[in-house]
Amino acid sequence: MKIVLLGPPGAGKGTQAKSISNRYSIPHISTGDIFRKNISENTPLGIEARKYMDNGQLVPDEVTINMVKDRLQQEDCKNGYLLDGFPRTVHQAEALQAFLESRDEQLDTALLIEVPMNFILERMTGRRVCPSCGASYHIKFNPTKNDGKCDVCGSDIIQRKDDTEETVKERLDVYERQTQPLIDFYKERNMLSVVDGTKAINEVFESICKILGSGR
Ligand code: ADP
Ligand code: ADP
Ligand code: ZN
Repeated sequence: MKIVLLGPPGAGKGTQAKSISNRYSIPHISTGDIFRKNISENTPLGIEARKYMDNGQLVPDEVTINMVKDRLQQEDCKNGYLLDGFPRTVHQAEALQAFLESRDEQLDTALLIEVPMNFILERMTGRRVCPSCGASYHIKFNPTKNDGKCDVCGSDIIQRKDDTEETVKERLDVYERQTQPLIDFYKERNMLSVVDGTKAINEVFESICKILGSGR
């Protein structure tokens, strides 16, 4: 099964991706997580990506597309994958289509987690993440069980540097200009499915499972 997750920053893509990845046994590929890992390891890719991420801008397409193509050719992707945070521009979506076609493959669906803009700021500024495993929490909507420690791996959770009010506003602007057009891109190709992301986390997951079915 090959899935793309769409939705604004804070829609719940990362949160749902963890559950989908477990249920359907496909790797969760988050471009944001890959960039953050490279930043923490101070690699050339990390140094380049950081210049953009700190300001809420997108990392250039060529860098991002090549990174994803490499990732999708790894062994664990041969039975499918879940892309979270990619594609984010029409150019990226076209590159993904071309990559799939060249391998005689196709996406099962592009799943949009729909959340109106007025929900987003509270979700983003209350978000806390695990720097080790990427799990996402919320101070009000999804707190950790053990004060400040990741439920999955026990690491200390942190607030992302780009989850401040100012950077969130910039990211939402970037989303509207550059990523929102992908909704039509996939709709025109009859590949779009939509879930209501304003519901509770487990209800959103149930709606997603209904769409994905038993999986393959
Ligand atoms: P994205 O990956 O789309 O940016 P996240 O999965 O990191 O979004 O979720 C953003 C924030 O909102 C996190 O703090 C998360 O715990 C919280 N969250 C996710 N889904 C829901 C939901 N259905 N209801 C309330 N809060 C949610
Ligand atoms: P969120 O979970 O809030 O949607 P991500 O973790 O997906 O945020 O992304 C964080 C940042 O990483 C983005 O603001 C952007 O700078 C960079 N990034 C992630 N994915 C992409 C992509 N596909 N293209 C360009 N930049 C990206
Ligand atoms: Zn963790």
